[in-house]
Amino acid sequence: MYKLIPLETEQLQEIDSHHHLHPFTDSKVLHEVGSRIITRADGIYIWDNDGNRIIDGMAGLWCVNIGYGREELAEAASRQMRELPYYNTFFQTSHPPVIELSKRLSTITPRNFNHVFLTNSGSEANDTVIRMVRLYWATVGKPGRSTIISRHNSYHGSTIGAASLGGMAYMHAQGGLPIPGIEHIRQPYWYQESNGMDPDEFGLAAAGALEEKILEIGEDKVAAFIAEPIQGAGGVIVPPDSYWPEISRICKKYEILFVADEVICGFGRTGQWFGTDFYDLDPDLMVIAKGLSSGYIPIAGAVLSDAVASVLIDDGGEFAHGFTYSGHPVACAVANENIRILEEEKIVERVRESTGPYFQRRLRELEDHPLVGEVRGVGLIAGIELVEDKRTRKLFDAELNIGIKCRNISTRRGLVMRAIGDSMVLSPPLITTRSQIDDIIRIAFETLDETVSVLKS
Ligand SMILES: *Cc1c(COP(=O)(O)O)cnc(C)c1O
Repeated sequence: MYKLIPLETEQLQEIDSHHHLHPFTDSKVLHEVGSRIITRADGIYIWDNDGNRIIDGMAGLWCVNIGYGREELAEAASRQMRELPYYNTFFQTSHPPVIELSKRLSTITPRNFNHVFLTNSGSEANDTVIRMVRLYWATVGKPGRSTIISRHNSYHGSTIGAASLGGMAYMHAQGGLPIPGIEHIRQPYWYQESNGMDPDEFGLAAAGALEEKILEIGEDKVAAFIAEPIQGAGGVIVPPDSYWPEISRICKKYEILFVADEVICGFGRTGQWFGTDFYDLDPDLMVIAKGLSSGYIPIAGAVLSDAVASVLIDDGGEFAHGFTYSGHPVACAVANENIRILEEEKIVERVRESTGPYFQRRLRELEDHPLVGEVRGVGLIAGIELVEDKRTRKLFDAELNIGIKCRNISTRRGLVMRAIGDSMVLSPPLITTRSQIDDIIRIAFETLDETVSVLKS
C-alpha cells in the first residue's frame, strides 16, 4: 500500500503529475508548475500541504454552500453507510433517504415542482434533460420537436450531451461537438457585446435572438430552451433586467419548454433558494447539483414541473434511462442533512438580507480601481472584469494572461479567486460573514494593485 502522508509537497506533486490526469488542465504545463495540494478545510478556509491558510472565495467549484467541516454531514454519511450503504432505485424499489430527499426538494423548489430524477452530476442531469424533453414531445404526439436551443458561452457540463448543450467553443473543438439537434444563440453579455446599447435595449435584443432562432428552425421542430439564470463558468454573466421577461414571453408564445440550469444558482447563491425565484422565472424543468450536497458528495438531479411530470408519468411509459447510483442512499442522506442546515440556520435568508447586499456593495468599490472595467453579480456570486482601457472596455492582449497572473497573486495572498478569461470570479461559501467579506475585499484590492505593478514591470 502506497502511504502518501507525510510526504513533502514536491513528492506529492511529482506522483500527481506522473499518474493523475486533471480535468480542464494542460498536463504538460501542470507538470512544470506542480499542482497545489490541498489537505484540509474548515469553514471558508482551505489549507495547502505547506500549511498556508487560504480563503476559498470559490466555495470549491461553486458548491460548498454551507462551508467546510460540518460534522453533521460526516455523521449522516457514516450512519447511512452502516445502515444501508447501497441499494438501487431500479425495479420498483426505494429507500428512506431518497424518499426523504424527493419530498424535501418538492418543498423548497417552486410550488409546481414535485418530482425529481436523481443523478450523480450536473452533466448527467443535463443529459437526462435532453432525453426527457424529447420523450415529452414524442409522448404528446409531436416527435418532430427535438431541437434544443442553448447559448454561446454557457456551461452545462462535460459529457457529450451536456458539453453540446454548453456553448464553449473550445470544448466543441475537441471530439466533434455539438451533437446534432442542438443550436446556440448569443449570450446577454452587456458589458462586452452591447455595442453602445443601453442595458434594457440590449437585453431585449439578446432575448430576441431566441425568437429569430425558433423561426429559423421552425417552431414545430424546437423542443426546449436551456439557460443558467446567471452564467457561471462563462464569467458570471448577469443578464439585463429586460432579458428574462422577454425570454419567458418567447418560450410561452412558441410553447417551447424552458429548462433552468440551476446548478450554480440553486441552493441560495443569489439569496433566494433558486435563480428561478430570484428572477421570477417559470421553468418547465430545473437542473440541480453542486449546492445540493454542498459538494460533500456527488449528487444531482433533474426536477420536473407538474405539467411535464404528468405527461411523462401518465403516458410516457418506461423511461429507459438511469444510473447505478441514481438516488444513492449515502448521497441522499448527506443532501438531506445539507438542506436541513440551510433551512434551520436560515443561511439563504442571511445571504438575501445581509451578506449578499453587503458583498455586492463592497465589491462595487473595486470599480474605482484602474484595472477594473465592471463588477457584476448578485447575492454571493460576482465577476470582476479586468480591462486595459476602462473607457473603451478594451481587453488586455490575451497573451499577457492577466487573469491567470491576478489569480496566482490572489492565491499567494490568501484568497482563491478564479480567472475566466480576464474576469476574476468570486462565489464564496454562503456562511461567509461580513468581516470575512471585508477580508476578501482587502485581499482583492491588494491583488489588483500587485497585478498593476507586475504589468508595469
Ligand atoms: C458545474 C455545472 C454543470 C455540470 O455539473 P457536473 O457535476 O460538473 O457535471 C452543469 N451546469 C452548470 C451551470 C454548472 O455550473
